Amino acid sequence: MSEKQTKFIFVTGGVLSSLGKGIASASIATLLKHSGKDVSMLKIDPYLNVDPGTMSPLEHGEVFVTEDGAETDLDIGHYERFLDISLSKQNNFTTGQVYSTVIEKERRGDYLGKTIQVIPHVTNEIKERIVKAGEGKDILIVEVGGTVGDIESLPFLEAIRELRGQLGRENTMYIHLTLVPYLKAAGELKTKPTQHSVQELRRIGISPQLIICRTEVPLTKELKLKLASSCGVDNNSVIEALDAPSIYKVPLNFLKQDILTPICEHLKLPKLEPKMDEWKNLVKNVVDPSKEVTIGFVGKYLELKESYKSLTEAFVHCGAHLDTKVNLKWIDSEKLENTPCEAEFCEVDGILVAGGFGHRGVEGKIEAIRYARENKIPFLGICLGMQLSLIEFARHVLGIKDANSVEFDKDTKNPIVYLIDEFMDASGQKQLRTHKSPLGGTMRLGAYECDTKDGSLLQKVYGAKKIVERHRHRYEANPAYREQFEKNGLIISGESDGLIEVAEIKDHPWFLAVQFHPEFTSRLKNPNPAIFGFVKAAQNHKNA
Ligand code: GLN
Repeated sequence: MSEKQTKFIFVTGGVLSSLGKGIASASIATLLKHSGKDVSMLKIDPYLNVDPGTMSPLEHGEVFVTEDGAETDLDIGHYERFLDISLSKQNNFTTGQVYSTVIEKERRGDYLGKTIQVIPHVTNEIKERIVKAGEGKDILIVEVGGTVGDIESLPFLEAIRELRGQLGRENTMYIHLTLVPYLKAAGELKTKPTQHSVQELRRIGISPQLIICRTEVPLTKELKLKLASSCGVDNNSVIEALDAPSIYKVPLNFLKQDILTPICEHLKLPKLEPKMDEWKNLVKNVVDPSKEVTIGFVGKYLELKESYKSLTEAFVHCGAHLDTKVNLKWIDSEKLENTPCEAEFCEVDGILVAGGFGHRGVEGKIEAIRYARENKIPFLGICLGMQLSLIEFARHVLGIKDANSVEFDKDTKNPIVYLIDEFMDASGQKQLRTHKSPLGGTMRLGAYECDTKDGSLLQKVYGAKKIVERHRHRYEANPAYREQFEKNGLIISGESDGLIEVAEIKDHPWFLAVQFHPEFTSRLKNPNPAIFGFVKAAQNHKNA
């Protein structure tokens, strides 16, 4: 254990899900961080999956990948984007992980013959993980997934309740996020759901000390006082979370309501004065930009844009630094299989082909890449988008008509993208991967170094000889075709330990196809260089 006593803020949610608990938690963390505190965050997910890696993007939105290769909840992405820090697998855990560990320990005989129960064995495991995630930090914000009242959340709530006794009152604080709905017909804001949700929390033994109310309509002073009194919190401890024009504005909205005062009072911290000037400027550019640019976003999961969360946020970051609104024109890749590309792309300034899995929509993506290459439109291909860029080039420039990836045609005669069954992971351990490998956790995951070629576009946008980016894929570019590619104008400009990472096209103003996912390292204060370069190129294309 480290010397420092970490303080813990637990954020629970009530009434219903999707109220933006992740954003509210990250916003509080942002204010604390800008006050000079060393802050970290933890998300606890009540579902039984070990991680969200095997969940469909339609089910759970994006799977966010940490530097150390954990497949996590998309809220971890928000935390990194707000705090400009890299988190690890310690910063997200699920019921599935907790139970796996407890059962493993039981099988090993670690519990010395005891009967294993939710309390204390499961709750102890939860508490240990929370305390560990906070080690060495000034403050850990713990977001408890789910909604108070769910069966699945109970062990977590019990654990955070017990932690107060263990860690001390001045080291723990409970914040509850609820909804204050506006009833149009009555012309009134309703406080009852909040009161009930707080009562439910109390029944479990947790009295929240601060209430954050999601609302479409501003709360009057009277209503805040009424809520404070009925929920048993101090008068300064009801904070309104009005729908905001940008998620990055939420910390500023909280600050205006002086949210740090009750937090400091409860955690016995001296007054905090966050320095938010730079943040304010960026938010101003997001909310009220003076320029605009349009990117054609070719993807497959367009019904649920949450599955591209990091990418869409990365465009917001770039826009904030360029004082530009980045409009995304969503283009369903399957549609491109039977409509001409011109119809879809005539008004875009850049074309993006995003990552993805499975065969559906692949031919449409290849058409989009061909269009961008032939018409010299700025192009960024990510992961599957990179693999398809190679296939497109092989088919239409090298004339290898049946060029394919073994992901789509296991017996293809020209596997431009193939499966290598043995590789070294980032920790230097040998990994095996075959067609029969189970889907969970068998991908190349997390951060790997990549060497950039001198004089390449890649090296120019990153301004570095070595870069580090995160991965989440199973297939690789096949080096057998490298010579043919290079002879015909495709440059391999990035390599990672012998693996082909980045391709670009010689006679093209801006064409970058990357095997990694640049969007995972983009933050509001620090946009990702590849995506930033792409947006700038699109701007130039527009103004040309
Ligand atoms: N399906 C491809 C692979 O597994 C690409 C994955 C992705 O785009 N994330 O390699």
